[in-house]
Amino acid sequence: MPKTPEDVIRDEIRALTAYHVPDSAGMVKLDAMENPYRLPAPLRARLAQLLEDASLNRYPDPGARELKAQLRRSLDVPEGMDLLIGNGSDELIQMLVLAAARPRAAMLGVEPSFTMFRMIAAFAGARYVGVDLRDDFSLDIERLLAAIEQHRPGITFLAYPNNPSGNLFDAGLLERVIEGSPGLVVIDEAYHAFAGRSFLPRLPRHPNLLVMRTLSKSGLAGIRLGILIGAQRWIGQLDKVRLPYNVNTLTQIVAREVLQHGDVLTEQAGAIKLERGRLLQALQRMPGVSAYPSDANFILFRVSRAESVFDGLKRRGVLVKSLHGSHRLLADCLRVTVGTPDENTAFLSALTQTLNP
Ligand code: PMP
Repeated sequence: MPKTPEDVIRDEIRALTAYHVPDSAGMVKLDAMENPYRLPAPLRARLAQLLEDASLNRYPDPGARELKAQLRRSLDVPEGMDLLIGNGSDELIQMLVLAAARPRAAMLGVEPSFTMFRMIAAFAGARYVGVDLRDDFSLDIERLLAAIEQHRPGITFLAYPNNPSGNLFDAGLLERVIEGSPGLVVIDEAYHAFAGRSFLPRLPRHPNLLVMRTLSKSGLAGIRLGILIGAQRWIGQLDKVRLPYNVNTLTQIVAREVLQHGDVLTEQAGAIKLERGRLLQALQRMPGVSAYPSDANFILFRVSRAESVFDGLKRRGVLVKSLHGSHRLLADCLRVTVGTPDENTAFLSALTQTLNP
């Protein structure tokens, strides 16, 4: 008898639902925390030139030396720290978990947070401990420290700012988590461009800390580049599970060139932050809506019937993300990415129409 998927595929994988990416053709796309702005035309022309000259018949530089040198400058990586780059930060999370998934080891994170921490732990057959945030999405420090003490996780993942709540956790409390952890603590700074706060300068003080970044939210989601920064004794081990040539030539070229013009991304992040303020004010003034302040490029808000509001927005051509049903603290919550002024206006007017038909 040939084997069936039930025979071959592990139970915990069959129990998963695949990460769903909805069709967004023709929609105002405000569901995925992308930067709504393209690169300026002269920079795009320069990229076209560089790509024309690229040796695509050859494998990429396996050590990505030039890109890493540029990243060191652009990110202001502290002296003595090493870099590991991945096909998006998702791949870095995968490398971390794969390397640390000892038979009974736990991975730990807060809930609600970025779902891939839990998903990737499941892929690797690792146990994942989720510790609830408080009702206002702040850290429940006593509960968190108690869970760390009890489960002694190999890795603790904390997004700073957090997705989907958008807030920065208290830095002093995060320090207590780092100091109270026997294992690694990964501070995921995917939304750093919109927050301005970072644990990167604290790396030299904490031997068990790693900081993760991505270029996805600040304007280069299409090239997939994530960066993990920390001490060589960790990065050197993690590098062993990296697949050869994991960051392709096109990504290396584009990232290097765009980072040399980093002011472009900084200006776009500035425009997004301004719009975030306008969007938050407008949402907070809307009857029947409560919106949470955000340090990221998205805003979490609560309505009275999230599913029907989601559908109403979709019918009016606006795609946001519904988080209803994913966690107790996210009941009736939707998350909107900050778009261009026109996109945000279209979203606000679609929301007004949906709430007052
Ligand atoms: N970390 C957090 C907190 C995120 O929200 C996301 C994207 N949703 C990622 C990591 C993954 O980003 P990347 O595109 O670099 O894989």
